[in-house]
Amino acid sequence: MSIAEVAGVRVDTRHWIGGERLASPDTFASISPIDGTELAQVSRGGKAEADAAVAAARAAFPGWAALSAAERGVILHRVADNVEAHIEELSQLETADNGSLLRSHRRGVMPRVVLNLRFFADYAIEKLKHPDFETRGHTNHVTWDPSGVAVIITPWNAPLMLATWRIGPALASGDTVIAKPPEWAPLTASYFAELAHEAGLPPGVFNVVQGLGTEAGAALTANPGIARICFTGSVPTAKVIAHAAADNLIPCSFELGGKSPTVILDDADLDLAVELAVEQYDNAGQVCLAGTRLLVQDGIADAFTARFAERAARIRQGDPRDEDTQIGPNIHLKHVERVEGYVERARADGATIAYGGERNSELGTHYFKPTLVVDAPAGSEILTQEVFGPVLTMQTFATDDEGLEMANGTDFGLAATVITGSRTRAEAFTKHLVAGTIWVNCFFVRDLSAPFGGSKRSGIGREGGIWSFDFYADVKNTVYAPNGWTED
Ligand code: NAD
Repeated sequence: MSIAEVAGVRVDTRHWIGGERLASPDTFASISPIDGTELAQVSRGGKAEADAAVAAARAAFPGWAALSAAERGVILHRVADNVEAHIEELSQLETADNGSLLRSHRRGVMPRVVLNLRFFADYAIEKLKHPDFETRGHTNHVTWDPSGVAVIITPWNAPLMLATWRIGPALASGDTVIAKPPEWAPLTASYFAELAHEAGLPPGVFNVVQGLGTEAGAALTANPGIARICFTGSVPTAKVIAHAAADNLIPCSFELGGKSPTVILDDADLDLAVELAVEQYDNAGQVCLAGTRLLVQDGIADAFTARFAERAARIRQGDPRDEDTQIGPNIHLKHVERVEGYVERARADGATIAYGGERNSELGTHYFKPTLVVDAPAGSEILTQEVFGPVLTMQTFATDDEGLEMANGTDFGLAATVITGSRTRAEAFTKHLVAGTIWVNCFFVRDLSAPFGGSKRSGIGREGGIWSFDFYADVKNTVYAPNGWTED
């Protein structure tokens, strides 16, 4: 029961606490979105398991915190080496579990997991420095000290990549970590724990509590023994977790949903615009950063629409394990129904479904077709709420100012893409866009040293580079007087 064989990979589905496996009496099923089959029964943790994990992480903290960044770096690089040696197993496991493309896992997602560990380990060693500065002859000396136990809660759309993007800097800071994986894709976190342990990460430094958000997640965030809450997920859950963080009076970092615009100005390179627009269907639309609102300027709207529709019709939907599949299934039947609900309500609101709008039933129950919604009334749900499926909307605008108002016209502010042939127009447009990340004539170019996060309801805080360490560490300033002590 506790060991499952998934896509040829053996994975232990119990919790990982204090360097040991621990089972819960209750379990939950992990279902594959590829064909709806049950992959495994996974331990379903609650307060007892959360308390045990916090105790283990707290016990391991002094030893891990006492190591230098370089000593921690050696171990984190060994963990990265072991992940790198098991990219194939991790890719198979994650594709079976969350239905994302196998080739993306092999070539993009799992290599990024490796980078998440290496980058932050090296950053702590080489770049975590601030020059001393003087105040009336006194010297200010800034350090980033370990802060305690970080709880890291993540969603299912890229579970191991999103978790290690936080686990990397937390461990490099000297914190110990408890990960609560998503219940719809829990398996790679369990496998990662094994790899980290084999590579020499000391017991208790990294722990995994499996379970449902309202049980395991809530118990972890409510525990007074933790120092940081780091959450990636939806806005409604963030509001609940913010209360837990308030009760504990500890910092939280939130990376939340989006309803990002892809703005196509009338001087845009049409080929580029069409390619970037089609990319917004990637991962069956289950990408927080996706620019799902296509905003097209009047002058090129007809030409763009014709080419985009022709290109979108050629998207190959299918089994995510096939090399030539471009988009696969959606994560869970409940989620497919949620996506369907958005499309049905858009129709009822008076919008037109230009193509798609239904399941691709030949492929299975979880495959929603790439969909384009046009003529939705301003302010309607489909234009303002995150669908998190392969559903784009298209609107047109006359002037740049009108386009800007539409681009900023939701409660979200995670990202935006602007496509234009003029640098001057790009600079004028982006100056007033409200978003954590803006791409001009490109999409998804990510550097781990860049700040990442969302404005408005898309998040609280920024991570990446120094911003990650400012969150996970206790930033300390020590002021040395010029006298009153002897040099030794
Ligand atoms: P979700 O909020 O339902 O769940 C996310 C995680 O929170 C899961 O692990 C879940 O078990 C846990 N959780 C749920 N209730 C909890 C509670 N009361 N206490 C503690 N933990 C709890 O989100 P989801 O549907 O899994 O993920 C999709 C969302 O994630 C979308 O809104 C998407 O945009 C967002 N997302 C954001 C980013 C980003 O970087 N900004 C990246 C990926 C996904």
